[in-house]
Amino acid sequence: MAKKTKRLLGKKEIKNGIKKLAQKLNNDYCDTSPIFVCILKGAFMFLADLIRELDVPIRIDFLSVSSYGDSSRTSGVVKIIKDISIDIEGEDVLLVEDIVDTGLTLSYIFDFLKRKNPKSLKICALLEKKVRRTKKIKIDYRGFFVPNKYVIGYGLDFCEKYRNLPEIDTMEF
Ligand code: 5GP
Repeated sequence: MAKKTKRLLGKKEIKNGIKKLAQKLNNDYCDTSPIFVCILKGAFMFLADLIRELDVPIRIDFLSVSSYGDSSRTSGVVKIIKDISIDIEGEDVLLVEDIVDTGLTLSYIFDFLKRKNPKSLKICALLEKKVRRTKKIKIDYRGFFVPNKYVIGYGLDFCEKYRNLPEIDTMEF
């Protein structure tokens, strides 16, 4: 049976939020050529729209991780499935993530990339839930705060479905 969903962020809101993020990034990275590391799979749509608003000469790489846990809660045990291919030593790096919940996933990835000695390492997350945070982590660029509900669409899945939705909805269980 289809799950009940409720609209959280429409196309226009997402677009405007991304434009604001891009303005800040254009400003902060104006003198450099940062490497954007997109966390797969959830952040692919966000990355694609974000970079089209940028006028700095960015480079792009992808990191694929799996997180053990049930469908709505991560355990913090993260496995790197695909590492990045660009050498980030001495480079300005921006991690591009879909959503931060407990912070466990991003905290693991941050430490993993930090060991590769980038010049700078910052985080850009489209969505942030504040309630269940167990790891203190600085989100340098954030699109939206969202309530403590399971969200889908715009790259975010439920059992690998709904990633293609152009809006972001909450899903009732
Ligand atoms: P954390 O480790 O911060 O608890 O969770 C981060 C990861 O869990 C995200 O990258 C995402 O894959 C997944 N996640 C957390 N909350 C949600 C949500 O509301 N919807 C979806 N689709 N994934 C989520």
